[in-house]
Amino acid sequence: MQQLETDYLVIGSGAMGMAFCDELIAGTNASIIIVDKHHQPGGHWNDAYPFVRLHQPSAFYGVNSKKLGNNTIDATGLNKGLYELATNSEVCGYFDQVMQRQFLSSGRVRYFPSCEYLGNGQFSSLLSDEKYSVSFKKEVDATYMNVVVPSKRPPPFFLEGNAKCAPINELPVLGKKYNAFVIVGAGKTAIDAVLFLLKNDVKPQKISWIMPRDSWILDRAQIQPTFESIGMALTSQIIPGSQSEDIDDFFDKISKAGGLLRIDDNVKPTMYRCSTVTKAELEQLKRVENVIRKGRVKSINDTEIVLEHGSIPTNLETLHVDCAGDGLAKRPSVPIFNERKITLQSVRTCQQVFSAGLLGYVEASFKDDAKKNELCKPVPHPNTDIDFLRNNLADVINRENWTKEPKLKNWLQTSRLNFESHILNATLKIKILSALGRLPFLRKLNKADDAQQKATENMRRLLDLQMSSR
Ligand SMILES: Cc1cc2nc3c(=O)[nH]c(=O)nc-3n(C[C@H](O)[C@H](O)[C@H](O)COP(=O)(O)OP(=O)(O)OC[C@H]3O[C@@H](n4cnc5c(N)ncnc54)[C@H](O)[C@@H]3O)c2cc1C
Repeated sequence: MQQLETDYLVIGSGAMGMAFCDELIAGTNASIIIVDKHHQPGGHWNDAYPFVRLHQPSAFYGVNSKKLGNNTIDATGLNKGLYELATNSEVCGYFDQVMQRQFLSSGRVRYFPSCEYLGNGQFSSLLSDEKYSVSFKKEVDATYMNVVVPSKRPPPFFLEGNAKCAPINELPVLGKKYNAFVIVGAGKTAIDAVLFLLKNDVKPQKISWIMPRDSWILDRAQIQPTFESIGMALTSQIIPGSQSEDIDDFFDKISKAGGLLRIDDNVKPTMYRCSTVTKAELEQLKRVENVIRKGRVKSINDTEIVLEHGSIPTNLETLHVDCAGDGLAKRPSVPIFNERKITLQSVRTCQQVFSAGLLGYVEASFKDDAKKNELCKPVPHPNTDIDFLRNNLADVINRENWTKEPKLKNWLQTSRLNFESHILNATLKIKILSALGRLPFLRKLNKADDAQQKATENMRRLLDLQMSSR
């Protein structure tokens, strides 16, 4: 057993562990040991399907100290006109460079890939008999988001006879051998599977889509690090949200204004998990007409798919593509800073790397756990439509608390992980131009702040109404 000593013992070199350590390296002199079961950093991106891309612009993904991508605007394809999205190999290559050229070369980080953490400072190699025992000041759990991708677990339904089912990872190699495809799942992975087939000229009539729940989807044009995207969010989400009477009216108004999208305008979604698409992608998805809404799949055999609310025929020439499952399973929030233990969680909806970077900054810059927890209230991964309101509200509260702390306010204004920092820079230019009398944008900015406040108050009222009607 090798004995080791360190200030921080970090479990997980996924995007969150990396973004957290990056801030610790920048803001402290601490030593760090990082342990991960994977052979290289990047976490679940190592197991992702070959055609996956980031679902958000590369511009604000990764670690704070290193740019990802070139801020290129895509000139072709379904993401045309929007910021580039890194592929999984770009993401893994990027994290490998951060580890090799920044973390390890700092002389303060020791990295133990292909090792499993067993608790209590103990870990062991997955490739040899080597065992380690670490004496540490703080343990950082960077595994709590519990990302589960279909390729790393058996399908969540029974397979009987010779029915063929494969995770989305196998679609590029297996696709050609099959006559028809059944996509199982309604989240972003399923969306990617459908888009992949259509892009490769599979006729929409050959695709069936099992959608246990319909989902509200974000328009990627509104998640761009640009001033225009504030304008879009203002007119399509914030203003309609501030004027709605009840929850149904809230989603109705926002969807009519284009602030939330859905696959079928006649079906009311009950799910919200931060999936994003472009309008061009949505048009493609709508080409698939055979959408099955009979609940989750229970089993698949040679001739039939049995679902919670009925069954549909299938055959042995059909490939069933497993895109079911949670991705990021919703786990109960726990205090992030708890004496010798730090549990990384989101503090802004669906912005895991931003959150981990902010937590690293807070750990490096503030002393008292109570203060740190007050600043960093977890925002769990959303699941239902109502979570859209809950999470927006939680985001607003956290943001208000952060901006009251000058140090943190400065980090927010300068960190590339904060999409608003890109907009703030642009906004600053606009303010200067406006002051010079060339642009009348200042009034628009004030209008956005007022509308945001009204929308927040209204969301609070709607959530109270919802709670009291139960
Ligand atoms: C397909 C897909 C696309 C996504 N796109 C985006 C996006 O565009 N933007 C965005 O912000 N988010 C996106 N996400 C969310 C994404 O999950 C986060 O961005 C981020 O990658 C999560 O990182 P993580 O470090 O929390 O988890 P992981 O990547 O799962 O890393 C955790 C690490 O901990 C290790 N580990 C676990 N247990 C142990 C143990 N006992 N011992 C040792 N090591 C252990 C694992 O091996 C793993 O490497 C996407 C998610 C998916 C599934």
